[in-house]
Amino acid sequence: MKKLGLILSFAAALLFIACKTNPFTGKQTLALVSNSQIFPMSFQQYNQFLSENKVVKGTAEADMVKRVGQRIAIAAEKYLNANGYQGYLKGYQWDYNLVQDDQVNAWCMPGGKIVVYTGLLPVAQTEAGIAAVMGHEVAHALANHGQQRMSAGMLQQIGAVAGNVIIDDPRTLNAFNQAYGIGTTVGVMLPFSRGHETEADQIGLYLMAIAGYNPDEAANLWLRMKANSGGQEPPEFLSTHPATDSRIANIRKMAPAAKAEAAKFGVTSFK
Ligand SMILES: [Zn+2]
Repeated sequence: MKKLGLILSFAAALLFIACKTNPFTGKQTLALVSNSQIFPMSFQQYNQFLSENKVVKGTAEADMVKRVGQRIAIAAEKYLNANGYQGYLKGYQWDYNLVQDDQVNAWCMPGGKIVVYTGLLPVAQTEAGIAAVMGHEVAHALANHGQQRMSAGMLQQIGAVAGNVIIDDPRTLNAFNQAYGIGTTVGVMLPFSRGHETEADQIGLYLMAIAGYNPDEAANLWLRMKANSGGQEPPEFLSTHPATDSRIANIRKMAPAAKAEAAKFGVTSFK
């Protein structure tokens, strides 16, 4: 019993040390692994993914994906700086690539590594539609949702003895792969929790609005997603991001707050 108590207090101390604040929600989140440990794995996997898939270059659509990505990244930096989180994006190396693939999907790996599949374009329809999806995916990355999942996975696998995380440790890599779906298919993640989805919806709306895109378009995008999910096998993004009526209603409810947030940065007209 005594030993168990000792282990539990050690674990509690470790969790205390390993917590960090989510700048968008003010909530404490679990972070057993730091960005400096995760980013190199992420960047390596991203480059490998790009080398193994067909990256679309030089087309109007590819340019649009880069343009939206840059605007979302600048919006994130503005928001974080204005809220006392200078340096939060340290180590980020933003990248935005359109990849030839019929999947209705997009994702953002840690450190700002974004992929949009061409299959998303007909559903997104407009630049604001792309911004809604990308804002949402970037929000997961900024709020370290994957990192929290990785930390939870590591607690399971390693027990509480994660004081020194070694990247070469197969258990660390295993936790990373499970959290980010690396291995056979990059970007195919386990579904996030409903709480993380709501967070990403809200942060994503802020980001798209500050970037100059109309947050009202997000609800329309999710309606199109819903209409698109009628088939037998829903596309990857839709299977992990169900566009339910309550979700769409919630996004509608949050849009005015996103516009008010954008106004703080002088953005009052949207495209
Ligand atoms: Zn999501």
